[in-house]
Amino acid sequence: MDLLSVVVGIGLVLFFYFVVYSKPQDDEWKKLPSFEEYLDDHPECETDDVKCVTCFSCGSDTVDIVPVTTDGDPRQKHVCSVCQKALFKSKGKIWWAESN
Ligand SMILES: [Zn+2]
Repeated sequence: MDLLSVVVGIGLVLFFYFVVYSKPQDDEWKKLPSFEEYLDDHPECETDDVKCVTCFSCGSDTVDIVPVTTDGDPRQKHVCSVCQKALFKSKGKIWWAESN
């Protein structure tokens, strides 16, 4: 292994850690409740549609699903599209395992 491979390897690790994994954003994401916990905390937000909830803050029923970092990040935040509050978290498909 030459020096260039080592530098590229370290660069890739740093890229994944800070950009793809992103510890501060991961911590923030982990603090969000799951869908079930959100409904436990805010039973008034449950709707007739099992996949749809309303915002505990403003009552809107339009929720955006936003990846924590880049497109393809399996960690998703469900954010109210009106008041921009993060409501709960979910985990989507892992982009590097999607071809299976
Ligand atoms: Zn809202």
